[in-house]
Amino acid sequence: MAKRKQNWGKTPWTVSFRSQTTALPDHVDFAVVGGGFTGLSAAAWLARLAPKKSVLLLEAALLGNGASGRTGGMVLAQSAAGDLAGLGDVLRGYRRILNGLGVEADLDLPGVWEVARGGKSMEGKKVRPLKRSPIDWSDSGRVRAVGKVPGGTVDPGKVLSGLAQAAVKFGAQIVEGAEVLKIEYSNPLRLHVRPKVKGRRKEQIVTARKVLLATNAGSLDLAAKLYEAKESAEPKLTFAVATARLTTKQIDALGMNSAQPFYTVDFPYLWGRKLKDGGMIFGSGLVPAFGKTLRDGARMYHSTASRVKEVWSGLEKFDVRRGEAAERLRSLEQRVRRLHPALKQVRFTHRWGGPILITKNFVPTFRRHPKNGNVLVLGGFSGHGVALSVYLGHKAAQHFVGRYALPTWHSR
Ligand SMILES: Cc1cc2nc3c(=O)[nH]c(=O)nc-3n(C[C@H](O)[C@H](O)[C@H](O)COP(=O)(O)OP(=O)(O)OC[C@H]3O[C@@H](n4cnc5c(N)ncnc54)[C@H](O)[C@@H]3O)c2cc1C
Repeated sequence: MAKRKQNWGKTPWTVSFRSQTTALPDHVDFAVVGGGFTGLSAAAWLARLAPKKSVLLLEAALLGNGASGRTGGMVLAQSAAGDLAGLGDVLRGYRRILNGLGVEADLDLPGVWEVARGGKSMEGKKVRPLKRSPIDWSDSGRVRAVGKVPGGTVDPGKVLSGLAQAAVKFGAQIVEGAEVLKIEYSNPLRLHVRPKVKGRRKEQIVTARKVLLATNAGSLDLAAKLYEAKESAEPKLTFAVATARLTTKQIDALGMNSAQPFYTVDFPYLWGRKLKDGGMIFGSGLVPAFGKTLRDGARMYHSTASRVKEVWSGLEKFDVRRGEAAERLRSLEQRVRRLHPALKQVRFTHRWGGPILITKNFVPTFRRHPKNGNVLVLGGFSGHGVALSVYLGHKAAQHFVGRYALPTWHSR
């Protein structure tokens, strides 16, 4: 992944943290693979909870390269599968975790609008427009608020940077441009790492007592045995655009002067939020990863490691400026312009896409690797991972230091 420049577009946030160019250690107590919200939260908490142990986070490209840097930053309660046994209060936990690590992330939890056109949600539940819906738009029908659920927004760039700073402050080592190519499931575990450090491109072995795989939709082959044996997972793409700053009049006309983000509970999917600078983000639904190897992505559940690898490499190559991806973005822009007269002439400043890992029944993966119990796999939040990834990353760290028993969600 580190070798190829990605063209997944630009987001309106920035990650201010960049790792120092340091040599890879030969051995660590804990290795975390993947520098998104999950991996960074786990690394920061491992370093904090076990100050005498060594913690190494390996990120193939730059922190935030996956979904975390390209997300919408809408903070949601529970999981994509709703509440799960023993999950606890995700929003409360999220706030506490960020505060506990000193992460300043513009977290705001005023609630989230659920919006719809018709009388039924995608799950077949009856819905009715609120009497005083602040939202009244047009998108395949009249779109109005049908309810409000707990949640809000965050600045994803600040979360990533803050978590990384906290991890380093507590003693973890973060290495960007270090791709884990393979893991030998021995004891200790042997990670084959390709570093992108100047003058050092040769594969190196790092041994680790325990490993957290937090690669989400990337490198599914590392966790493939798990997905083959226990559950299926499907990487998909989703797209988003950000508008230029809107005037107060435009924001008022859109009913967006409260800072509440929104998502549709019926199809076609549309979600969005206000930005601190006065612009807005709008995002569309999931599409199968496209490209030559991925035509059948929508129907495919992974059965072999090589197939999984093939899917990821297609996903990795997609370019938002061309072909089907560019088409999707253009059609999203058109949809936004038609939503409301206040948006007719709106200018777009950012366009991007990102990967989402959809799991069976939308239940996140949080379990031991079948090949070696010292490897934990955490990911697959099915597009509902901004708060949950950080929250469960903390729990993964607690598990490694013997303070948390893994959940039983997968046995249902
Ligand atoms: C456009 C978009 C909008 C979204 N909007 C929302 C939203 O509003 N609310 C919400 O709750 N969720 C949303 N999501 C989902 C949410 O962003 C994700 O669930 C969350 O960011 C997942 O974090 P993660 O750390 O598990 O994975 P990622 O952020 O994907 O991190 C995985 C990391 O692993 C690295 N990696 C992969 N393979 C290797 C390897 N072999 N070696 C080393 N590193 C490797 C990748 O480079 C990547 O940085 C959205 C996602 C997208 C794409």
